[in-house]
Amino acid sequence: MQSYQEMTKEELCKEKESLEAAYKEWQKRGLSLNMARGKPSEEQLDLTMPMMDVLNSSADLHSEDGTDCRNYGGMDGIPEAKRFMAGMMGVNPENVLVYGNASLNIMYDTVSRSMTHGVMGSTPWCKLDKVKFLCPVPGYDRHFKVTEFFGIEMINIPMTAEGPDMDLVEQYVSEDAAVKGIWCVPKYSNPQGISYSDEVVKRFAALKPAAEDFRIFWDNAYVVHHLYEDDQDEILDILSECEKAGNPDMVYEFCSTSKISFAGGGVAALAASKANLEFIKKQFTVQTIGYDKVNQLRHVRYFKDMDGVKKQMMKQAAIMRPKFEMVEKVLSEELGGLEIGSWINPKGGYFICFESLEGCAKSIVAKAKEAGVTLTGAGAPFPYGKDPKDSVIRIAPSFPTMEDLKMAAEIFVVCVKLASVEKLLETK
Ligand code: PMP
Repeated sequence: MQSYQEMTKEELCKEKESLEAAYKEWQKRGLSLNMARGKPSEEQLDLTMPMMDVLNSSADLHSEDGTDCRNYGGMDGIPEAKRFMAGMMGVNPENVLVYGNASLNIMYDTVSRSMTHGVMGSTPWCKLDKVKFLCPVPGYDRHFKVTEFFGIEMINIPMTAEGPDMDLVEQYVSEDAAVKGIWCVPKYSNPQGISYSDEVVKRFAALKPAAEDFRIFWDNAYVVHHLYEDDQDEILDILSECEKAGNPDMVYEFCSTSKISFAGGGVAALAASKANLEFIKKQFTVQTIGYDKVNQLRHVRYFKDMDGVKKQMMKQAAIMRPKFEMVEKVLSEELGGLEIGSWINPKGGYFICFESLEGCAKSIVAKAKEAGVTLTGAGAPFPYGKDPKDSVIRIAPSFPTMEDLKMAAEIFVVCVKLASVEKLLETK
């Protein structure tokens, strides 16, 4: 295909006309499709239905240490759930607290507690003039919403193919004591699907923060979310790397079964050093008399161990993979060679990240909306919703049916082409 970049004004005008005609045809169909949020599809959720049968009215609801899961108590999680969540994160069960149904909630709580009560004896962040967080971009919009909500200043850190730009991270963290944290999605990152290299993880573990209460917020949301059986990313365990580097307290790791079992009905956990956990438990005991141990038990009895999780994730992948591959096929067939955008084909996670020509993302998202396709808002993967280049669009292929997704992808590429032609014509 001829590159749009090489087209003359006349050629671009002609292309625009035919694209406008195609776009109008789509509009006429009055579709309502959605590629906005990374929700599991119904078919994926159905995979977990047998879990609902493992506990019934005749089930013994005692955990392995004799705790009656129907009652209060067992604050930090039943032992088998700690072991299960630890297995998922590749850490020691002693370093795990099991919470409720959502890891975002733990992250919010962690920031909130640091604001009001500090971190292991340091000054509460709310009493400081300035608190800053480093935000690898593009990143997860809800992370940025949490820090924005608490008035924390966010600093963009560009992502590379191996993880965040560590030269910049090291510089900020070691020079500025107002930098108290960094948001990380280390495996199959949201939205690019990038996994951090060993060198990046080691550089994280070896950081020398100016602030004693600096913490890495390691959101391992996609830890087992591979799309392929024979081509999977693995990353180093940050907790043990931090310990080896003499920084045992510098990291909080989060994870959940939201996209393994039920989104909103899963189990979430935090992993951290014992010193961190001791401090956190002081809040824990005020906040709750115990999370949902019945759900913890249900999950462990159903999945049993990591082998059970791996099997489930391959069933999930069998549903997800064709969707990813279909979107990637439409992108490469329709946009390959045009030089108007790039994308990463991820090996796991929930998203495909598309990068358009500068200044086109908002226009593409608006055009798609008018043709019946809802995409994640342009700018969402950036702090304050501001994409400095207005070029990143997050595509979430999981929820729609294959049929809907195909149409949505076809509409998307028409919108990309149209917005790009308009942009290029501005300079001709
Ligand atoms: N972290 C990341 C990176 C996510 O993409 C998501 C959800 N899509 C979450 C956390 C939310 O997880 P939970 O349901 O456990 O709150």
